[in-house]
Amino acid sequence: MCGAVKILIADDELVSRHLMKAALRDMGYDVVVVDNGQDAWEVLQEGEARIALIDWVMPGLDGIEICRRVREAGMLGYVYVIVVTGRDQTEDVVAALDAGADDCVTKPFRPEELSARVRTGIRIVMLERALRETQDELRLIATRDELTKVWNRPAILRLLEGEVNRSRREYKPFAIALVDIDHFKQVNDRLGHLAGDVVLAEVASRLTSACRSYDRVGRYGGEEMVVLMPGCESDAAFDVSERLRCAVSACDILTPEGAASVTVSVGAASNQDRLNVSSTVMVRAADRALYESKGNGRNRVTIATLAHWE
Ligand SMILES: [Mg+2]
Repeated sequence: MCGAVKILIADDELVSRHLMKAALRDMGYDVVVVDNGQDAWEVLQEGEARIALIDWVMPGLDGIEICRRVREAGMLGYVYVIVVTGRDQTEDVVAALDAGADDCVTKPFRPEELSARVRTGIRIVMLERALRETQDELRLIATRDELTKVWNRPAILRLLEGEVNRSRREYKPFAIALVDIDHFKQVNDRLGHLAGDVVLAEVASRLTSACRSYDRVGRYGGEEMVVLMPGCESDAAFDVSERLRCAVSACDILTPEGAASVTVSVGAASNQDRLNVSSTVMVRAADRALYESKGNGRNRVTIATLAHWE
């Protein structure tokens, strides 16, 4: 655990640097030592040092200025700053804490006190790290469809809104594809709902592998997926959609109840000639194109044309 935390020691006095380093050496920490404020700030900006022992008076930047910068930078991952100083007046301690220091240690310090204060810092840093990881997990759970692992409906609709706005702002086309599994009910009827779940998850996975790295796949509902395709005019939207369609039908999907031969129908719409349309209008056009794919025999791609937009 200790090795995972990097500690910065910044002090312009050689003896003081050595004492700090010696106090921490046997605790197994990864220690970086610098002798001026500018170097200290550079190390901190690299974002790996989580504990910083900073001398107050140093050439370059002083310890107080470094505290301020660390807090203003709002780095990802908390940096626990201990200001090490010869000043021991209450107002000095208050000034350091107000500037963003977590703790102050007065020189000359006792090694055991310094290492105990560093351990306190490690506890805080670890706690913050665990909290951040939990937050990341929760965010992931809140935005993913549990079965297919692609974006869930609220999340993909939010992303859609963002892409439509970006497209308008940057005068770049954007396309959306609605992908619906053909005769999905028959899969469920023939192989059961668990096999149906396997098919859904596999289709989502094939779509994700087949689209471009910056496209996004979401579950729109039931057996319907939505793919967001930034930068696509109608021709490109057709090409990507064809790739999606072929990726799904390329080979049978194996389920515990037997193999399923699955195809999808796709309806896609690009806003290339109408950058001002809303996401709702785009979804409606794609949906009408999808309906046409279904009507024309399924397992095909239809790009929205004038009639679909009206
Ligand atoms: Mg100094």
